[in-house]
Amino acid sequence: MHPLMMGSLSWIEYQQRLQEENAIVLIPCGALEQHGPHLPLGTDALLSTSVAQSVAEQINGIVAPTFSYGYKSQPKSGGGQCFPGTTSLDGNSLSQSIRDVVRELARQGANQLVLVNGHYENQWFLTEGIELAIRDVGSSSPLRVMRLEYWDFLTSDILDQVFPDGFPGFALEHAAVIETSLMAHYHANLVRLDRIPDVPLHEFPSYDVFPQRSDWVHPSGVLSSAKSASAEKGKLMANHIATGIAVAIQQEFGAKHFAVNGIAPR
Ligand code: ZN
Ligand code: MN
Repeated sequence: MHPLMMGSLSWIEYQQRLQEENAIVLIPCGALEQHGPHLPLGTDALLSTSVAQSVAEQINGIVAPTFSYGYKSQPKSGGGQCFPGTTSLDGNSLSQSIRDVVRELARQGANQLVLVNGHYENQWFLTEGIELAIRDVGSSSPLRVMRLEYWDFLTSDILDQVFPDGFPGFALEHAAVIETSLMAHYHANLVRLDRIPDVPLHEFPSYDVFPQRSDWVHPSGVLSSAKSASAEKGKLMANHIATGIAVAIQQEFGAKHFAVNGIAPR
């Protein structure tokens, strides 16, 4: 088994993995953002990294260093910017950083990249960074990039098991059952189950206002209760997510086909 983390490889090993194995490079993308009184600020970065590592184990991939800062937390999906510790990038800064890293990896021959996103608000800024990098390298480049939110690999049968009383939707899942369960599975020592607040399911207006309204969000920072979270649910979801992503990557990148004219077969 190779080391999973790009930062643990020498340049010689890294080059060999790219040239001889056409290794796929995964880039976890998270945030530094409050996650209630029971989860750490680094939750989104920790979970995207753990998911990427689980996937890399299955596909013999390489995990690049995590983007540990993300786009600004929004009240309706992450509680907003008013909580101490929620430390965010401007969208343009995030997009330009993603652009630089994607282009740099491609320049060295890593032409199959997967951005594993764990922070809801990052989505379009990751997309923009990828789009700009693709434009930078030009249409003759073999670079191909997948971008995904790990929670989208939770199928309805798994969600039915995790939420027997009904699934509230991914936006309100901030610091709630999914993230708390996954953290209890991957990073049990960082979770304070005894501090989970008992909050009602949050209801928001159908619009946003700026500057952000701190009184829209429960003082705990949680948007729906994590009371029913467990490490067992976390394990169930983690295995399902990692396998689902690995299968998707194999469908996109499976055969070693990008050497020919840079055109992916259908
Ligand atoms: Zn989160
Ligand atoms: Mn987040």
